[in-house]
Amino acid sequence: MNQPKDISHQLSELGYRLTPQRMMIVSAIENSDNHISAEEIYTQVVAKYPHVNISTVYRTLELLKQVGLVTETDLGEGRVKYHPALKGHHHHLVCQKCGAIINIDESTLARLEDVLLHRYNFSASLRHVAIFGLCGNCRK
Ligand SMILES: [Zn+2]
Ligand SMILES: [Zn+2]
Repeated sequence: MNQPKDISHQLSELGYRLTPQRMMIVSAIENSDNHISAEEIYTQVVAKYPHVNISTVYRTLELLKQVGLVTETDLGEGRVKYHPALKGHHHHLVCQKCGAIINIDESTLARLEDVLLHRYNFSASLRHVAIFGLCGNCRK
C-alpha cells in the first residue's frame, strides 16, 4: 500500500525549499491532533529555533494554504485552526453558548454545494467550514 505523500514531500515536489523552520512547522501540523493554531505551532518551533519570528509561521501557513496542503477554519473567538488537507476534509458545528465543537462529515454539505452551483452558478469551495449555532444541551 502506498502511503499518502506527506506535506514536506509535496512541498519539495512543488519546488519549495525545505528550510529547517519550514520542516518544523510542517511536522507540528502533521503531528497535531488534526487541528493546530498558528500560536501553538509557533510555541513548538520557537522551543527549537528561538530566533524564529511568528511571521515566519504565518507566511509558511499562507504558502501551505495556497498550494492546498492545509485548510483553515475560524472556530470563532479568534480560534483559527489549521488542518492538514491530506487527512481528509470535514466541517464543524460550533456552539455559541458553551463553545462545544462537533465535527461533521464533508458529505453533509455536499447538497449545499449542489444548490449553490445550480441555483447561483457558484462553485463553492467548502473544504473546512464552521457553522455557528446552539448545541442540544444549550437549547434545553
Ligand atoms: Zn477542522
Ligand atoms: Zn452548547
